[in-house]
Amino acid sequence: MRPILYHKLGSFELWFLSDGEIWLDGGAMFGVVPRVLWTKLVVPDEQNRVRLGMNPLLLRMGERYALVETGIDRKPGEKFRRIYGLGETHPILGQLALLGLEPSDISLVIHTHLHFDHAGLNTLWVDGKLRPTFPKARHLVQKQELEDALHPHERSRASYLPENIEPILEQFETVEGEQEVWPGLRVVPVPGHTLGMQAVEIHSEGQRFAYTADLIPTMAHAPLPYIMAYDLYPMTTLETRKRMYERWLEGHYLLGFTHEPGHPLGRLVRSEKGYRAEPVY
Ligand SMILES: [Zn+2]
Repeated sequence: MRPILYHKLGSFELWFLSDGEIWLDGGAMFGVVPRVLWTKLVVPDEQNRVRLGMNPLLLRMGERYALVETGIDRKPGEKFRRIYGLGETHPILGQLALLGLEPSDISLVIHTHLHFDHAGLNTLWVDGKLRPTFPKARHLVQKQELEDALHPHERSRASYLPENIEPILEQFETVEGEQEVWPGLRVVPVPGHTLGMQAVEIHSEGQRFAYTADLIPTMAHAPLPYIMAYDLYPMTTLETRKRMYERWLEGHYLLGFTHEPGHPLGRLVRSEKGYRAEPVY
């Protein structure tokens, strides 16, 4: 497992936690991009799967802690965990403990979207009951995303597990559109993967950062047409990318990638061939 990565950004402190890895079909991960092209960027295993990380982000501002995404669900049982190559325990809980934190120290959870690999630690089984993992946190999400998660259709149903949503309904706080959450911390809609997905931006002391959610799941996905087959609205992803790439390039944003398997911090670069991302150490 990747060690916790610490980064100071103005008056914010950032810890990129690691929720382990997940192996998914390379073809599905790169959509219409032919295998001969995407295999120049990542090496698939013998089942054509590629390795992905899960990188929830812990933020500190003053005495307040926020968690962006809660990682993958491990509750659905042994078969589910075997398919995705997951252990039974949640590494995030151990990493919070290492940093001297209890789940009850988290006052805010920001959801980019509510898919089971991003919101899976919202609840835990305790004494035969599903309990909120972060009992004192409000859970911030776009109104559209919560509605879609509560009313999934045939293509989205497998991604939204009610066990991560319904037991904490009272803790959700919905927003519509771009909104400042704390001074310098804002959520920005980035529709495409889902209609209600949001990115998280920090502006502090002249520095800028964006957690890109599944708009750019890994650095290999930065080129405009490298859009996952999982995206519900790929043409919307394309439009959103064009808009956000300009914003993030012009503002010299540092970017965080939710599914990058290694070092999760990078920047966008524009060349005559289009866009790509490169790591920042
Ligand atoms: Zn994802």
